[in-house]
Amino acid sequence: MAFIRKNVKPNLVASSNVSDDSSSAETFTVAQLLELAKRKGVETSPLDVQKLLSVLGVELLSVPMKDEISGVLSRLENKDGWVVKVNALHHPNRQRFTIAHEIGHYCRHRWQQKEFQDLNFFRNGESNPMEAEANRFASELLMPEPTFKEKVRLFAGSIEAIAQYFKVSTLAVRVRAKNLGMKGHGLE
Ligand SMILES: [Zn+2]
Repeated sequence: MAFIRKNVKPNLVASSNVSDDSSSAETFTVAQLLELAKRKGVETSPLDVQKLLSVLGVELLSVPMKDEISGVLSRLENKDGWVVKVNALHHPNRQRFTIAHEIGHYCRHRWQQKEFQDLNFFRNGESNPMEAEANRFASELLMPEPTFKEKVRLFAGSIEAIAQYFKVSTLAVRVRAKNLGMKGHGLE
């Protein structure tokens, strides 16, 4: 008699129809990444994005950049590695979203480009499918559905309190609520 390990179905699947068609064998979903984080002892609620990045073997540099640049993910020259540069002048919560967004590019798109330069996500992201996917990835990574719903209940729907808990902007909370089909997020 042997235990048969059932393939545990993740309860949180990246809601991505975008890049599932190509090289998906090598791409990480949000659920897989959160499982990895837990295995490696990375705090997931709220997520320690910096530690997760280091678990992935990606370097992080915090550097002052022009205000419109949030961050950059790029392949290191001469080395088989990647680096995330985040705009040190931005609010820490925004930097967290930037890092999560770059993790999204790293997990889903790094075979397609060797550099990702990111301007203001919410304004410019939607037009490009890759950017939209990285935004969605970041949003799901920082605010996993079960925890998000739990905190919405706990904080009686206070967007400020939820944002404070997850250490994200109130806009990020509104977008997450909207994407989960919740009401009262105040977005069109
Ligand atoms: Zn991007």
